[in-house]
Amino acid sequence: MIYIAGAGIAGMTLALALAKLGVKAVIIEKTKGLQPEGAGLQISPNARHVLNQLGLSSALHGLGFSPQAIDIYPFKRAKPLKSLKLGPFAQQRFDSPYIVIHRADLADILYKACQQSNLIEIHFGITGFDMITHANGLSVSREHSDGHIHEANPFAFVGADGVHSVTRTKILSGPDASYSGYTAWRALIPTSMMKAELNLFHTSLLWGPGFHAVAYPHPRRHVINIALFSKEKLGANTGKKSVAPNLPKIALTCPRFNAIIESSEGEWTNWPLYGVKTGRWHKGPVGLIGDAAHAMLPFQAQGAAMAIEDAATLAPLLANANEPQTAFATYYAERKNRVRKIISISASNGEIYHMGAPFSYARDLVVLAQGTTGHLRRLAWIYDHKIPI
Ligand SMILES: Cc1cc2nc3c(=O)[nH]c(=O)nc-3n(C[C@H](O)[C@H](O)[C@H](O)COP(=O)(O)OP(=O)(O)OC[C@H]3O[C@@H](n4cnc5c(N)ncnc54)[C@H](O)[C@@H]3O)c2cc1C
Repeated sequence: MIYIAGAGIAGMTLALALAKLGVKAVIIEKTKGLQPEGAGLQISPNARHVLNQLGLSSALHGLGFSPQAIDIYPFKRAKPLKSLKLGPFAQQRFDSPYIVIHRADLADILYKACQQSNLIEIHFGITGFDMITHANGLSVSREHSDGHIHEANPFAFVGADGVHSVTRTKILSGPDASYSGYTAWRALIPTSMMKAELNLFHTSLLWGPGFHAVAYPHPRRHVINIALFSKEKLGANTGKKSVAPNLPKIALTCPRFNAIIESSEGEWTNWPLYGVKTGRWHKGPVGLIGDAAHAMLPFQAQGAAMAIEDAATLAPLLANANEPQTAFATYYAERKNRVRKIISISASNGEIYHMGAPFSYARDLVVLAQGTTGHLRRLAWIYDHKIPI
């Protein structure tokens, strides 16, 4: 039996992958129920390949949406500089589609699949956990919200408890997450209000000097998911809701940014972006996956994908290991370089998207030169990565 802290994307994917291999998983989650924060996720073919092997393909097909292209809008440009192909082209190239999905829908798909397995237990409302290692292995205690304490002796403990992971900081004595300097502002805007501004079948990437935005549709919910990104100091309003995002004033001189900001009927959620840098992903029978191990900037849209890949890599290793430490050591060796490379690309994308003139002119020429499918060739090493479970 494997203990997992966190019923997020990483934790539930790991439980499903273990169950597929006949191994029991117990998930302990601190919230009282599923509380998927945030609004949307892009799920690239590398992650989809894993989820398909867990039998989730038709549920994802039903609730996700496959944008036909990514429209690139440099600052103040009326028409897209280029529309980079996705849709059937990406599906054919990578054997799995590139989709966008509401986070609540993905969480629900994973949760329902977990509920259908008699090898997975999920305990919500866990107020704390502790563990000791000894000659006979590992003893874990979990505390429920009513105060009762339950003890167990799992083969291994996996911290999938997100960016501010207690498993990382307290159990493995690893570092705290550090603020990246970037903040995301997120909102859902009724599709009808964006008709004139954005192609409603495409993902849109809007660039500006010092800020950028990503927008994509959730057609079943009749909303467009918008995330605006800029640099901001942590302050009293960090993490709070607000009627308008706090972007540099120059953003409002661009009609499209202006329309997005004005069209939001609800509130914008301010979301400070933290990163995790640690080489200590495991010790003894305890390991980390997902954001707990390597939270990154979302500018390559790969954080959840890496969490899903981690789960797919670790599950067979744990299922077949005599010693958990051997499984964790192999997992770390297999994952670390790929994850580091993606952390680095995500950070450089931030610099590229936020370029001002004259560097932005050179950037735009590169976009034109790479054509409508060059991005898929350039990023094939990410999307073509297939992990068998
Ligand atoms: C603005 C933004 C946009 C993004 N867009 C994308 C995208 O398009 N594509 C993509 O692949 N990634 C994207 N990401 C990244 C993605 O959201 C994360 O990488 C992903 O959610 C990580 O999953 P996780 O399961 O590791 O962590 P989480 O989803 O954070 O789950 C952690 C779980 O652990 C629980 N937990 C925490 N502490 C404890 C504890 N002490 N005990 C028990 N349980 C605990 C939490 O309640 C939570 O349920 C984006 C991120 C941001 C901020």
